[in-house]
Amino acid sequence: MKDILLLKQGEIVLKGLNRRQFEIKLMANVEKRLRPFGTFNIYAVQSTLYVEPASDDCDMDGAHRAVKTVFGVVSVSRAAACEKDKDAIFEMAKNYLGDAISRARSFKVETKRADKRFPMTSIELSQYVGGLLADAFPHVKVDVHNPELVVNIEVRDYSAYVHGTAEPGAGGLPLGVGGRAVSLLSGGIDSPVATYLAARRGLNIIPVHFFSFPYTSEQAKQKVIDLARILARYCGDMRVEVVPFTRIQEELRDKCPEELLTILMRRFMMRIAEKIARSNGCGAIVTGENLGQVASQTLEALAVTEECVGIPILRPVITYDKREIVDVARRIDTFDTSILPYEDCCTVFTPRRPKTKPKLEAVLEAEAKLDIPALVDEAFAGIERIPAPVLPF
Ligand code: ATP
Ligand code: MG
Repeated sequence: MKDILLLKQGEIVLKGLNRRQFEIKLMANVEKRLRPFGTFNIYAVQSTLYVEPASDDCDMDGAHRAVKTVFGVVSVSRAAACEKDKDAIFEMAKNYLGDAISRARSFKVETKRADKRFPMTSIELSQYVGGLLADAFPHVKVDVHNPELVVNIEVRDYSAYVHGTAEPGAGGLPLGVGGRAVSLLSGGIDSPVATYLAARRGLNIIPVHFFSFPYTSEQAKQKVIDLARILARYCGDMRVEVVPFTRIQEELRDKCPEELLTILMRRFMMRIAEKIARSNGCGAIVTGENLGQVASQTLEALAVTEECVGIPILRPVITYDKREIVDVARRIDTFDTSILPYEDCCTVFTPRRPKTKPKLEAVLEAEAKLDIPALVDEAFAGIERIPAPVLPF
């Protein structure tokens, strides 16, 4: 029996003239994601992508798991192909979906017929197969209005396909259609979620981590790489830019008022992130900032934080409650890694009483004592680039 995957395209079908371009991107993304699982033929018909194994040794279970993380796909069905004959279709439905039908309380059959030469109408074929299935599974009711299970039949040019209820896909837009962004990735709960949400709107992501060795440990760095590798299941293989941040933090500690340390540090993060963004063709900086969560995340602090950069800062979780962020973190599997207890550079130099409403003038006055371009250039020159390939499921 030959299995195939049917991927329903989501919002990209709404994009009018860009649609074909989006579709080509999506197909390329699917192809890339499936490479570890064998060679597949991928083609689009209307708003569905068909993914067929090109040889018998393809890992269909692996491919099935992987396509559910490709952005731009709203639903995924695993279908069985069979001969375009009403009895072959019934046999296939009975064998392939037998377990699911047995388990359901009710079902119906729905047919789509792309091949108009097929000798029965969609309704006739549904009734024929539905009648035989009802006889074969007498304890399961036929319910055409509100069935628990839909047995789907598609009659296409070369084959007929049978599949059950579609499962949800990753949604969003294909990676890359929105351009590129850097994402500030700490080891916390929020920034991996923010990174995922930004990528889901079609952005390719370059993760950036500020590392304050020896105040923060190798383990803290490794944790960020691990998070990036989990995110790579959605974002594709990535490379983390690890920025040496110790010198800047020590300078700030030695030369600036303690209550401004956090906001000053955040401005340096933004400046360096902008430099990395510009040198990699990125149009935005993504952060996991969340309104009101900590002193540096009041409106006043956010305004001062972003005053020093000239590209958009995207804050996907800005209005989320912690619970909502945690729900996403669990769903995308970053949560358990995020809660490992390694310190972050922010926590090491946290002032005892940070200003919740920092004044720009005070911040500029403190910064006047620093050679900002030299500090930024030095950190930038010291960046270590660490590959973060997809962590297998
Ligand atoms: P998170 O849970 O993502 O760490 P947080 O609630 O702890 O967020 P902060 O520590 O104030 O908040 O950081 C706000 C945002 O700044 C983070 O979400 C992240 O985007 C960025 N950030 C903080 N520390 C770092 C770091 N060491 N490297 C890269 N980005 C960082
Ligand atoms: Mg943090």
